[in-house]
Amino acid sequence: MSFESIVFTLILLVSFAAFGYSAKKLISFLRLGKSEERFDHLAKRVRDVLTMVLGQSRLFREPLAGLMHFAIFWGFLVITIGTLEMMIQGIYPPFSLHFLGRIYSVLLFTQDLFAAFVALAVLYAFYRRYVSRPKRLQVHKEAQWDATLILLLIFTLMVSLFTLNGAEMARGSDLHAGAKPVSRAIAALFSALSPNALAVWSRASWWVHMLTVLGFLNYLPFSKHLHIMAAAPNVFFQTSRPKGALKAMNLEDESVTTFGVSKITDFSWKQLLDTYSCTECGRCTAACPANITGKLLSPRAIITQMRDALLEQGPTLLKQQKGGTLTSEEQELVNKTVPASWITEQELWACTTCRACVTECPVGIEHIDHIVDMRRYLTLMEGKISPEAQTALRNIENNSNPWGIGADTRADWAKGLDVPILSQVECGEVDVLYWVGCSGSFDQRNKKISVALTQIMKKAGVRFGILGTEEKCSGDSPRRLGNEYLAQTLMKENVATLNKYKFKKVVTACPHCFNTIKNEYPQFGGNYEVVHHSQFIAQLVKEGRLSVTAGKEISATTYHDSCYLGRHNDVYEAPRDVVKSVANGAFVETRRSRDKGFCCGAGGGRMWMEEKEGKRVNIERTEELLETGAKTIATACPFCMTMINDGVRAKAKEEEVRVLDISELLANSLL
Ligand code: SF4
Ligand code: SF4
Repeated sequence: MSFESIVFTLILLVSFAAFGYSAKKLISFLRLGKSEERFDHLAKRVRDVLTMVLGQSRLFREPLAGLMHFAIFWGFLVITIGTLEMMIQGIYPPFSLHFLGRIYSVLLFTQDLFAAFVALAVLYAFYRRYVSRPKRLQVHKEAQWDATLILLLIFTLMVSLFTLNGAEMARGSDLHAGAKPVSRAIAALFSALSPNALAVWSRASWWVHMLTVLGFLNYLPFSKHLHIMAAAPNVFFQTSRPKGALKAMNLEDESVTTFGVSKITDFSWKQLLDTYSCTECGRCTAACPANITGKLLSPRAIITQMRDALLEQGPTLLKQQKGGTLTSEEQELVNKTVPASWITEQELWACTTCRACVTECPVGIEHIDHIVDMRRYLTLMEGKISPEAQTALRNIENNSNPWGIGADTRADWAKGLDVPILSQVECGEVDVLYWVGCSGSFDQRNKKISVALTQIMKKAGVRFGILGTEEKCSGDSPRRLGNEYLAQTLMKENVATLNKYKFKKVVTACPHCFNTIKNEYPQFGGNYEVVHHSQFIAQLVKEGRLSVTAGKEISATTYHDSCYLGRHNDVYEAPRDVVKSVANGAFVETRRSRDKGFCCGAGGGRMWMEEKEGKRVNIERTEELLETGAKTIATACPFCMTMINDGVRAKAKEEEVRVLDISELLANSLL
């Protein structure tokens, strides 16, 4: 073994040992989290890894940035094979993968080409970070320095690879020069050098390459680029729950003394793994309606602040777990709660649970779960919830609706409309159970939607019925406001009521009720076919059960996507189909639509809270809707209706622009 090989072997061993130590420490921090089953639905998990990790699907939501990352990701994978070969050669120089024959030539060709792609992608990344500077990449100094260092390391790796190949080719000692077109072009630059100089270039390049690889490996655990290792498992372990469903808390467990999440040890290991996976790309924050309208909340910061808490508390918590005696400072540190010491209440309560962040995140981070878990702690353990939200919850407790209007008046909207009430239907059986929801039952404006939908169902000859005063708040808002007790009570009571009757499907005009009954009631034994009224009406039109006049009374129309219908449940086409069936082609999309749609500001219980910080979310959205020039704004959610109506009034446009639910649009056009 040569002296050079001995030195390299020693450096390699030290590097791997140091990396192993850091990795072990990070894994032991993950073990501080609660256990959580994440091995179900294996086929889906593998599919997610194939599309999101190997296919980089989420990154292509921004095509150029996606292409850049795709080149770096695949370049790294391919080049790593060559790096491993070089590493073995560092210990045992005669080693080569050339026994692979033609495959080896293809491998060398691909590596050469990908190295060029990676170098170009890094230059483009520098351009974005320092010249074009999109807002999401304008980060604090430390993160900027980290990103710059990583880019420099990657660039050094590619350049040293090319100078190594170039010098070897110029010396005539590269037997596979024909398989490396880019390196061959670089070799021309070395043609004037003496054999001795070429030998120095070759060895120096080799050492720079290897030391950079090992330095990179050991820097990763301390960098946001830890995602290189954490992202694939994080995607694999994404929740298999339906998108719109929050996890149910076990309220029966008497050993539990604290509810929700306050300490790092209250999070699950997957929630902690999320923090290692964050690339700090800012895609989530760039899409967050709260952040865009000037609130303190940044979903990226929620994740990085959780990571800060984990890394700061981790060593002391481990010491405590092992029975070590803590100093008073250490005790003070472990007593700190994440909501309060790292994340403010203000940030947590600004979230509308719109799912824009989760939809954008390329590495499968589940921001809403973290935020609601911390809200659960604030609401259930500390009572730190805004007075208006508290009032809404109290009203729901007393009268099953957030306004506190007498529960016995829930079905008053239907007076004189001859709407069957299930408890009075003779056989107790209908085709459609029409779930009206609190807004459709009590809110003056939204009662008109209930009337329109009733007209439509009657016209189409649908055999339907409502629960009347037996219906209660679905539990959506209490759950998202962190009051899991109240939410579960309502859900269980509603399931018991629903299970008394025979019906084929539940139809509702409220995406929040739709989401909760469809995706969360199964957690409490309520399994039903649940259909949003947009889907139901679109189907009636398609089946020819409704005759409508296209174009009647309608000029240009736009549609506002509800987050709970769209991003949480992937219903994008049905409401558009309904609008288009009467809009006679005069349909305009908004700048941000479908899964990039912009929230109205009412989700996550924000409907019941004041919005004092920054610009109002509904105003931002209304401005965008008005920008389209449409004279009719169609909605498919009673909360959106309230928020957009308020926005149109605030912009003094109520004389020119109408806000109508899709059911009203269609009812107006019925023949
Ligand atoms: S769910 Fe919506 S409002 Fe909440 S953090 Fe994510 S993007 Fe922001
Ligand atoms: S949470 Fe996801 S989208 Fe947001 S910065 Fe981290 S990796 Fe990017």
